[in-house]
Amino acid sequence: MDFKKYVRDIPNFPEEGITFKDITPLLQDAKALAGAGDALFELIANMEIDKVVGMESRGFIFAPILATHLNAGFVPVRKRGKLPHQIISESYELEYGTDVLEIHVDSIQKGERVLIHDDVLATGGTAKAVCKLIEKLGGEVVQCNFLMELNFLKGREKLSGYSVASLIKY
Ligand code: IMP
Repeated sequence: MDFKKYVRDIPNFPEEGITFKDITPLLQDAKALAGAGDALFELIANMEIDKVVGMESRGFIFAPILATHLNAGFVPVRKRGKLPHQIISESYELEYGTDVLEIHVDSIQKGERVLIHDDVLATGGTAKAVCKLIEKLGGEVVQCNFLMELNFLKGREKLSGYSVASLIKY
């Protein structure tokens, strides 16, 4: 299936000079949505996974779909101040300044095998921070999995040492 057909470029979003890859056409098409879920699952089909960690907010779309395919639990990573229970946090670099991601302390047990999923791998800063959160809790990152990868931003370099897989590459 040609998934690129269902991704549109939005110029100057969310800021002047940035071209945003919008996956909502893929999500609203029944065949493309199911096809993308199945194809993402194929990237990890033979792996033993205990938890799938998804990043706020577009990581929340496919991460639970993958979790149910894998018979694993789903764990949300959220921006600062959104999670209600006890958390640990990790700050990461944005283009201008830093931001903070948080995870519940009881969401991953020591030794659990974890799949990370997000919609887009850009510079890799977000995914790297999530790897650190999982490792602080004693989890093992088995794969960083993305619907889409923007090769020219070299996210794979930031994630060197981790297994990285994506469905759609630009
Ligand atoms: P990174 O930390 O630079 O790898 O950025 C990845 C994060 O930014 C992901 O959580 C994405 O949801 C978001 N992101 C970056 N570029 C795009 C885009 O073109 N479309 C959709 N999301 C994007």
